[in-house]
Amino acid sequence: MQNTFKSLSNLLFPQTCIGCAKLGSNLCRDCAIQIHTPALLTTRINLLVFAGTRFSPLASQLILAAKEDNNRAAREILANSATRALGYAMRKLMINSEGSNLVLVPIPSRNSINRSRGFLHTMALAKLIVASSQMPTIQIINCLEHSRKVTDQSTLNNQERLRNMAGAIIVKDHVRIPISDRTKVFLLDDLVTTGSTANAAKTALEARGIGVLGVIASCAS
Ligand SMILES: [Zn+2]
Repeated sequence: MQNTFKSLSNLLFPQTCIGCAKLGSNLCRDCAIQIHTPALLTTRINLLVFAGTRFSPLASQLILAAKEDNNRAAREILANSATRALGYAMRKLMINSEGSNLVLVPIPSRNSINRSRGFLHTMALAKLIVASSQMPTIQIINCLEHSRKVTDQSTLNNQERLRNMAGAIIVKDHVRIPISDRTKVFLLDDLVTTGSTANAAKTALEARGIGVLGVIASCAS
């Protein structure tokens, strides 16, 4: 019965691949293979970046669909990628999930963008990661916000981006972050390019005495 219903709804509302628009599913086999790569480690400005996959046109499509269309399937694929990155980070840094308090701090979009979208993209991503990682003890702390308008980054070079982002992210005043020796803090983002945004987030947390082990990202360029 359920299958009949499923095939009927597929007939009425055919699913297409988010990556290449091929009919049949949210992500076709070819696109799935392309995105399900082994996780990778790269560095940006003294920051370890653990990414589920390398940035690609397909990754860009998925990010756009999740962010701009609030597409749940796309967000799940990005969360899946970030979960692989988190697992890789834990192995690489020899973190034992049993004995640690893992904390994910989502890097927020600008306040005006959050308002126009009506949801918090990286926060939604964090929730899916916790749900799928089988590590129920991960804490999500949504403590960062943008302090001011920054110039659009797309035309800036790396040095200019760093200057542009310096001090642009702050820790919300009313948030208290419980920190102990067992606390392992990671930033979370969908995409890391130059790392200037992640670096601003790290600097803001460090100013509050909170050390950051690295960034967990769905993808990195
Ligand atoms: Zn496809």
